[in-house]
Amino acid sequence: MAETGVQNWKEKYLSALEEFETSHKKDQQRLDLLRRGLVRVSLAADGLDKTLDHQLDELRSGLRGSRDINSLEPLVSQLERTIISLDDRRKDNHGELESLLDSQLEQCLPLDLPRQVKSDVKKLRKELPDLLANGGASLDLWKRFQQVQEQVRQHLVVRIDDLSANRGSFLSRLFSGQQRPATDPAPEVMVGDRHVEPTRYTPAQAQEFQLEEPGQTDAVPREDESDADPHLLERLSRLLCNLLSQLEVPVEYSVRKEKLVDRIKSPFTLEHLPEFIDETTQLVASTRLTAQKEFESFLVALHQRLLDIQEFLVTAKQGEEKSLRNQEKLDADVRQELKEMRVSVAGTEDMGRLREEIEGMVNRIVAAVDSFHEEEKNRRDEVFGRIETLAKRMESMEAEASELKSSLEAQRMEALRDALTELPNRAAYDEQIEREFSRWRRHGRPLSICVVDIDHFKSINDSMGHLRGDKVLKLVAREVSRRVRSEDFVARYGGEEFIIIMPETDLQSAVAAAEKVRLAVAECPFNFNNERIPVTASFGVATFQDKDEIESCFERADKALYRAKAAGRNRVERG
Ligand code: GH3
Ligand code: MG
Ligand code: MG
Repeated sequence: MAETGVQNWKEKYLSALEEFETSHKKDQQRLDLLRRGLVRVSLAADGLDKTLDHQLDELRSGLRGSRDINSLEPLVSQLERTIISLDDRRKDNHGELESLLDSQLEQCLPLDLPRQVKSDVKKLRKELPDLLANGGASLDLWKRFQQVQEQVRQHLVVRIDDLSANRGSFLSRLFSGQQRPATDPAPEVMVGDRHVEPTRYTPAQAQEFQLEEPGQTDAVPREDESDADPHLLERLSRLLCNLLSQLEVPVEYSVRKEKLVDRIKSPFTLEHLPEFIDETTQLVASTRLTAQKEFESFLVALHQRLLDIQEFLVTAKQGEEKSLRNQEKLDADVRQELKEMRVSVAGTEDMGRLREEIEGMVNRIVAAVDSFHEEEKNRRDEVFGRIETLAKRMESMEAEASELKSSLEAQRMEALRDALTELPNRAAYDEQIEREFSRWRRHGRPLSICVVDIDHFKSINDSMGHLRGDKVLKLVAREVSRRVRSEDFVARYGGEEFIIIMPETDLQSAVAAAEKVRLAVAECPFNFNNERIPVTASFGVATFQDKDEIESCFERADKALYRAKAAGRNRVERG
């Protein structure tokens, strides 16, 4: 019994020992794995900071040697502290960098930029914390920042939203021309007697100016993705320099730009950044063009072309004078030779010598004529060359002027249209009635006008809301336009009032036309909450009479409208 008890204990002891040994071996393996893992991790963290590097070195030799792992405890505590302070420093840097970049982006918002660009700026601002959190200054962040900056820059240079794509290149060419004050020497350069095309007018330059290859604008080199401070500053410096090199500032800013580039290139600290970015932004803003300036630039370029022509005429005149002198010289040379010939013939008896002399003289005359022709030909070629160049330039100038004209025309049309109803507005009416009025004065053919005012529109607004009121306005405007003749002119005069100009229409026909429109409006099936909404309008018609001015006829129509209202609305009254 006791024997069996001892036996049991022994077995238990042996199996416990075996278990312990297995588990110890496993622990040892785990510890080895951990040591190796730690060594690798520590290697990955190398190069961030000198103190950290030193401590990691010590940790590695501790881990590799046979030192008791517990003896590393103080070193691990030191390491912890270093890492925490490094992390704090990095957070501080991130915070500072984030606010710097954010303020740079924020400054773009008040600028006159297309909605898309603004929304890109806003989007980047929103995503800044995430982009920065992701390992500090990531390549992605810099690329995005650079892209947004580039967009802003481009739109400041040329307000593309107003312009067609072609005009953009024209304006950029003009824009680069605008760097030079109008009084500067002519942009053409004479090298020898050849004309050299000014670089600002080459299409390639205009292209370059506008469309940089994405690769060229990449300020951040791929191979270097570390986010340590000196690298970061170096990158920022490169980024800013890159930006500035793409920026064509007006002459009066060029010294400022050069100074800024020099300062950015020399070593600087983060504290300087806001100042640099601020200065860069100001330089960007200096390149901004308003529509007015675009036009001024166009005039400057035009002025330059005129100077070219003047210069050409002067040169051509000088050429003519030179040609005249050449002719006189030829004339004199030939006369001289002939005179000498006569003397020789008279004074020589030796026929052989005489022949030789005459041959020599004839050769000299031929040479003089040849050289005359040669010079004349050169002169002509040069003049024709210059004429051709000038003609080409004038041609492109003409094309540009007509583009500018149609763009201004489009802008003008825009200014004469009512945005809600898309009808001509009050200003357009004023212009049109002036034209019709003077035609009426000249030809005396009848001219009528009709003022239209929607009835009780205020209560339509009140019962259905302003937005539905707007919709009613739009539909009534459409209805009125549809119901009149194509020669008639319908405009939104103001609020819920319209005016119709009816050329070649006497009072009776104008009243009939107004009646037709009145019926059409009244029959429009407006519905709200499945209920028919009655919409009607009142009309006042007047025809121009002998001593009428525009205002007096309008007044009659307006008074007639007032009477139509007073008589119960949904009526046509004549003035
Ligand atoms: P009446 O028959 O005497 O012309 O009455 P009315 O309510 O039409 O005239 P009133 O001049 O008192 O009011 C005109 C209303 O038209 C008031 C104004 O709020 C509204 N209105 C003017 N322009 C617009 C607009 O663009 N949209 C909308 N929804 N309402 C407009
Ligand atoms: Mg009214
Ligand atoms: Mg009204």
